[in-house]
Amino acid sequence: MATERLYQKDVYLREADLTVTEVREYKGKMQVACESTIFFPEGGGQLCDLGTLGGVAISDVKEDKETGTVWHTVADASGFEPGRTVKAVLDWQRRFDHMQMHCGEHILSGRFHELFGVENHGFHMGEDYMTIDMLAKDGSPITDEQILQAELAANEVIWRNVPVVTTWFDTAEEALSMPVRKEIKFGEDISVVTVGSVDAPLDCCACCGTHPSTTGQVGLVTVLKAENYKGMTRMTIKAGRPAFEEARTRSKIASQLAQKYSCEVITLLDREAANDAKNDEVRRELSELKSALSKQEEEKLREALPKAEGSLAVFRYPLMSADDLQSMARKAEDIFTKPSALFSEKDKTVVLATPGTPAAGQLVKDYAGMYGGKGGGSKTLARAIFSKKADAELFMDLIEKHLR
Ligand SMILES: [Zn+2]
Repeated sequence: MATERLYQKDVYLREADLTVTEVREYKGKMQVACESTIFFPEGGGQLCDLGTLGGVAISDVKEDKETGTVWHTVADASGFEPGRTVKAVLDWQRRFDHMQMHCGEHILSGRFHELFGVENHGFHMGEDYMTIDMLAKDGSPITDEQILQAELAANEVIWRNVPVVTTWFDTAEEALSMPVRKEIKFGEDISVVTVGSVDAPLDCCACCGTHPSTTGQVGLVTVLKAENYKGMTRMTIKAGRPAFEEARTRSKIASQLAQKYSCEVITLLDREAANDAKNDEVRRELSELKSALSKQEEEKLREALPKAEGSLAVFRYPLMSADDLQSMARKAEDIFTKPSALFSEKDKTVVLATPGTPAAGQLVKDYAGMYGGKGGGSKTLARAIFSKKADAELFMDLIEKHLR
């Protein structure tokens, strides 16, 4: 039996006494249907209402499209039986969020259409945000400037506080007598939502969702993000309370950053640019210092290597990274007349350089694994990376013994 939708007559109805008509178990869940309902079932891109029925929490509300029955899913249906009257209480904050968001989307899409001939080709509504997929008639990309203009124009429609009126039609043909912005795809029981007057609407489109009676109640609509999506522009938008909460969160983050940098929110980007410039300078200085250090160490190595004893010349570096050691070794390749180990203590990595015989890469391959090391390289230059300094020392001892 088709359920009477009380929210269509009065979208502000938060409570009602409903008469139970059917109780069923469906796909493992208990569901209750009543003669009428105040709960909007999921549909038209809008999430379902929640609340309580007979004091029991509702976890889902869905419509059976064939029969028109609205089914309320409850955890425990033992208190329900046909004929019994139960009190329905709507989760009003959730519903009003949805009303604000849905209506905000209509107003914004209407402005994009009016100002730039941009059409809405897809709509998704999450718990507290929405996305719309927008495409200009000639396929040209939507610019940031157009987004700013449409967003401002949409908020101006909100500030004018014009009526939002829903009109029902039996067939699509009848509904098409309205100046709808989008074609109507379904056949019967069409609801058309008009923003402003029907003669000169600020938006008009078919929608089965719930909307406030005036645009002022939407409060605010914002475009948070725009990105390319399958050749269209996908915009993430928020309206009403979710838009306000988003603004508050962003404002708080901006204030905290401004406090951290001892500046005003408005000058944050300038401060950020100044920081970037400073970082670039520090990076340049660091690179110069590293290159000077590397040159010094290379000179020391040239002097020390011929005097080194044992079959493996070991040099320890507490500060230099494995990358720096490897690039130094590559530049000074000619000096490694005997197998040498340059040990980056901070990276726990041994850079092995040889004249080619024995092959450095092969030594790493053969012996690093014994102490949990990884790595490899060419005949003359290789690296072995360890998780403990002691393992790297054991590895160098072993190579020394092997080469004796
Ligand atoms: Zn709507």
